[in-house]
Formats: sequence, structure tokens, C-alpha cells
Amino acid sequence: MNIFEKIVNREIPATIVYEDEDTLAFMDIGPIIKGHTLVIPKTCYDPVTETPDDVLAKLIQISKRIAAAQIKGLGADGVNIIQNNGKVAGQEVPHIHFHVIPRFAGDGHHWNWAAKTYDDPAEMERLAAKIREGLTG
Ligand code: AMP
Repeated sequence: MNIFEKIVNREIPATIVYEDEDTLAFMDIGPIIKGHTLVIPKTCYDPVTETPDDVLAKLIQISKRIAAAQIKGLGADGVNIIQNNGKVAGQEVPHIHFHVIPRFAGDGHHWNWAAKTYDDPAEMERLAAKIREGLTG
């Protein structure tokens, strides 16, 4: 059983901000920015590609409500909604979750978003062709 399932089962404590029959939102214990909230389904799915569409739809709807509440309740100036898949992508807990992170002017956080370039337009087109291929069948 993963740590989020233990939270769902109330085997370990969490500071819950929202709960319904299939979804839970609680405070991240290691916030990127204070107020950082996690939104999870009560049933474990992982990764995003194995998660049913209706579960994903619910998670993003609740994430939207949490984002609105961070703006209204915390006075956030913006919000990041992030979802990691795989260790290489920074995922630690193998139970799908959306991070909803409030952002404040001058909060000092900067993503390491170092934009790269393609060698040439043909390289970008080659990769696009492979993604299109992956969309079929
Ligand atoms: P990820 O790296 O996308 O898998 O994110 C996992 C997140 O879960 C991290 O931001 C952790 O700080 C958070 N986390 C881990 N354990 C707990 C816990 N017991 N309660 C709340 N958040 C947790």
C-alpha cells in the first residue's frame, strides 16, 4: 500500500482540504510554496496513461476548484498545476496526483525551465511524426 492509500484509509494523518466519495485533496508536507495542495483519486491509478478518462476529468475539475480557492482564500496571484509520471520525471509516489501550487508575486520560486532548441526544423518534424504515429492504432 502506498503512502497516499494510507492517507485515504486514515492510517497516517494528513491535513485534508477537500473530500468526496472518490477524491481527496490535502496539504503537501513538503510545499514548493506554502499552500501547495495534492489532489488524488481514492483508488490508486498510475501512471497517467493507465488512469481512466473519467478519473482524470474529476481530478482536473477538483484541481481547478482548489486553484480558485488558493486565489480566493490565500490571495494567490497565480497557480501551477503539475502532474509527474515516472522517477525520471520527478515522481516519488506511485499514485496519480495533481500538484496545485499557489504562486505569489515575488515568491522567489523559479522552475528550472531551460528552453532548448532543435538542431534544425527536420529534427522537430521527425519527432512530431513519431508522436503522430503513436497517436494511431
Ligand atoms: P511526486 O514527486 O509528484 O510523486 O510528488 C509527491 C509529493 O507527495 C511530494 O511533493 C511530497 O512532498 C508529497 N508527500 C509525500 N508524503 C506525503 C504525506 N505523508 N503527506 C503529504 N504529502 C506528502
